[in-house]
Amino acid sequence: MSKNDRIFVAGNRGMVGAAIVRKLREHGYKDIVTPSHADLDLVQQSDVRNFFSEQRIDQVYLAAAKVGGIHANNTYPADFIYQNLMIETNVIHEAWRAGVKHLLFLGSSCIYPKMAAQPMREDSLLTGVLEPTNEPYAIAKITGIKLCESYNRQYGTDYRSVMPTNLYGPGDNYHPENSHVIPGLIRRFHEAKQGSLAQVEVWGTGAPKREFLYVEDAAEACLHVMGLSAEVYARNTEPMLSHINIGTGEDVTIRELAVTIADVVGYGGKIAFDPTKPDGTPRKLMDVGRLGSLGWRAKTGLRDGLALAYADFLANTAKR
Ligand code: GDP
Repeated sequence: MSKNDRIFVAGNRGMVGAAIVRKLREHGYKDIVTPSHADLDLVQQSDVRNFFSEQRIDQVYLAAAKVGGIHANNTYPADFIYQNLMIETNVIHEAWRAGVKHLLFLGSSCIYPKMAAQPMREDSLLTGVLEPTNEPYAIAKITGIKLCESYNRQYGTDYRSVMPTNLYGPGDNYHPENSHVIPGLIRRFHEAKQGSLAQVEVWGTGAPKREFLYVEDAAEACLHVMGLSAEVYARNTEPMLSHINIGTGEDVTIRELAVTIADVVGYGGKIAFDPTKPDGTPRKLMDVGRLGSLGWRAKTGLRDGLALAYADFLANTAKR
């Protein structure tokens, strides 16, 4: 990879895309193309085609996606499957048409079957039934992997895929209902502290386990995978099993997470679980052996990452 490469980060205003842009700059890449959503609508094929024919792109990070937590996935399933399929198909196909050799597609740990053996290895993909609350999103993300593999097999491209676990950190979406659990709880505990509320409600039973990765670490892992030589990537993957998990290899219960967030925020009241809200999949811990053997591991512990995320919330969201 040359530091002079022209790099398109699709989804550069989102939490992960923005972190990838920061990491690329830190690593000395200067020619980074970051159109806004208003400049380039990735759902529109003709817009994406025009973009690639006008720009001379060498590398693509495909971090654009319609994302959300368990409630949003359950409420807007059509938006999740349609927008994600369109974004992936348009970007991957048009990148190939324009002669882009290197692309990194970002998926999600929800691609794996609901009852996959834990920790979940890359080869558990397509071995069982998916978790229904996010099946449409998962199907779109599985399609993204298969698009990359199919273009590689037919056209000799070097399109790679990474599957990050649940991410959090600066630039997260703190919407009260549509967010993921960490930003949702940061907001709720913060507001409860401000309002001196006696208790905070946490969805579900508190029993599900989740693995969380700080977004700066995830971005670092993406650059690491993109930077592997084609030979090393090929040796550690298979043409039709080409994705690499990104995670910490450790998980916590939602109850443990809630207690830690309350502590980081400084909320001393009661935590009440609402079992009428969905738990989602019982556990989704990543097996990160493939990435570990390729020389990468996460740096930021959960508590430290939560403190950084809360500082970002206070600086950028709470004030507004
Ligand atoms: P998931 O990993 O796809 O299930 O995504 P989420 O981050 O939305 O949810 C993770 C777990 O946290 C689920 O078991 C939720 O029921 C639970 N949870 C508890 N409180 C909240 C909350 O306020 N927001 C969200 N999104 N999830 C919550």
